[in-house]
Amino acid sequence: MEGTIRSAFAMTEPDRACSDATNIAATADLDGDEWVINGEKHYISGAGGKRRKVLIVMVLTDTDAPRKLRQSQILVPMDTPGFEMIDGMQVLGDYDAPHGHMHLRFTNCRVPKDNILLGAGRGFEISQGRLGPGRIHHCMRAIGQAENALELMIKRGLSREAFGKKLIDLGGNIDLVAKSRMNIDASRLMVFQTARAMDILPKDQARIYISSIKASVPIICCDIIDRAIQMYRALGVSQHTPLAAMYGNARMLRLADGPDEVHRMVVARAEIKKYQ
Ligand SMILES: Cc1cc2nc3c(=O)[nH]c(=O)nc-3n(C[C@H](O)[C@H](O)[C@H](O)COP(=O)(O)OP(=O)(O)OC[C@H]3O[C@@H](n4cnc5c(N)ncnc54)[C@H](O)[C@@H]3O)c2cc1C
Repeated sequence: MEGTIRSAFAMTEPDRACSDATNIAATADLDGDEWVINGEKHYISGAGGKRRKVLIVMVLTDTDAPRKLRQSQILVPMDTPGFEMIDGMQVLGDYDAPHGHMHLRFTNCRVPKDNILLGAGRGFEISQGRLGPGRIHHCMRAIGQAENALELMIKRGLSREAFGKKLIDLGGNIDLVAKSRMNIDASRLMVFQTARAMDILPKDQARIYISSIKASVPIICCDIIDRAIQMYRALGVSQHTPLAAMYGNARMLRLADGPDEVHRMVVARAEIKKYQ
């Protein structure tokens, strides 16, 4: 739907852990023909964009159901009374304008009963289906940024001299260029493998490949951007190169859409299961 925030989000109290989506604390209670929504959430990506008109909100609708059937997703137009956009959250000092990562609050926000997606108790299922494509997309973009960082690193290393040599020939810089190229190519192949797995394997098997790239590609990209920053010296952390913003983006990817540890847990569980 045009104007809908693409990333459905898990509403929690700002201090409730949300790497475990079953911890969601925001609620929707049925009152006649309306859902009444209450809750608050930090970091809703894209919510600050001007074209955004409708939110997909993940809420608890049945606290007695099995853990993964308690949540539902409900459409909430952003002009609904009781909805507040509190603030833009920073990522390492940047607001990621114009779309941003917003802090949202819902206080007795009423929407029609029919605004529920798929049906009550299907929220977890919907989010599992949506997050996979989002995660591989994050990894693809991160690899593009790593390529960009490697190019900047090399151009800088070739164009400046210190101690009578080009920067690229000093210390271990040649090694860092080689490692970065190898890391990028290996990451790209893992992403291709994951895309293929998503095409041909059942979702529960493809998600292991997705977790594997999500827990490794952003770390690799962070490292490569960090090496480029070092080659650029102070300019690398300034506003005069894109490197600082690129680093912030790659670093936050180690948290957004599930922290590294949770994805490693998924990979490890699948690996261990082979021998049980
Ligand atoms: C820039 C940005 C944008 C975001 N956008 C959105 C959005 O659009 N929609 C949305 O719903 N959320 C969004 N988030 C929230 C994001 O999904 C959560 O921050 C993330 O899932 C981690 O949850 P948490 O912050 O509650 O950390 P917690 O769940 O409290 O985890 C904190 C730390 O505990 C450790 N940990 C947790 N579980 C395990 C485990 N099983 N094993 C080992 N260690 C563990 C990890 O080190 C983890 O980093 C965004 C976050 C950021 C930073």
